[in-house]
Amino acid sequence: MSRRRIAIVAAAAVAVLALAGCTSGGDSGGASDEPAPTFAAGTTMAKLQEAGKVTVGTKFDQPLFGLSGPSGDPEGFDVEIAKIIASELGIDEENIDWTETVSANREPFIENGQVDFVVATYTINDERKKVVSFAGPYYLAGQSILVLADNDDITSEDDLVGQPVCSVTGSTPAANLKELGAEVLETDTYSNCLEPLRSGKVVAVSTDNVILAGLAAQNEGEFKVVGEPFTEEPYGIGVKLDDTDFRMFINDVLEEAYEDGRYEEAWNSTAGAELPFVDPPAVDRY
Ligand code: GLU
Repeated sequence: MSRRRIAIVAAAAVAVLALAGCTSGGDSGGASDEPAPTFAAGTTMAKLQEAGKVTVGTKFDQPLFGLSGPSGDPEGFDVEIAKIIASELGIDEENIDWTETVSANREPFIENGQVDFVVATYTINDERKKVVSFAGPYYLAGQSILVLADNDDITSEDDLVGQPVCSVTGSTPAANLKELGAEVLETDTYSNCLEPLRSGKVVAVSTDNVILAGLAAQNEGEFKVVGEPFTEEPYGIGVKLDDTDFRMFINDVLEEAYEDGRYEEAWNSTAGAELPFVDPPAVDRY
């Protein structure tokens, strides 16, 4: 055996010993070179790890957060957050099955098991917490207003009262607009609000500032975001109601990602192209 070969064999032996030390008895193989995480039997984490794949609900038409890319898989900040969670379950991104969730079907898709979790610009609120549970928040957005680039009449939410405004069925902004006294044109996705805005059927589109920023950037020169955000939209990761182990596991993963830079990297490689990085909010271990 050559000296070089002896050195390689010796290094491999050290690596194997190091791995054995780290796994502390974990026996099922993870999808990557990382040692397999060990989860208590019967938990969602153990089931997903065992399956080696996970189904994630996200948006497919929201630039910066979740938009179908050239490969067919979505791209964006929510997508990167989901990949971080999957990797901590020992699941590589090729084994993530992406399912489009629109605003109105997120709760039913979680409830009936069509998805294992949802990362989709999904505001945590008490109404939704009656039917699903949330990890996070991992981002704090706020409702804002999108108008045609040459519109100088609308500068705040007060200008939307009595006016036709487009938003999405099942979303918190649609509910807020109704409360405000706007005449709400509802559709199923925010991208479907753009034609009514172009044609003058509505005077504005209203939803979270980060979604509107993505739509404005995607259609350069056509639209602008106006006014200050007028609600708080803390984004959470939706899981089955009362799956506390899974929710707390995801909270741990988020905190680790905040600490070790993966969260910031996820932001910078996606939404960071248009929006400044802000420190994440503290997770809520309710
Ligand atoms: N964050 C809001 C919500 O969860 C609006 C964005 C959306 O509809 O996805 O309802």
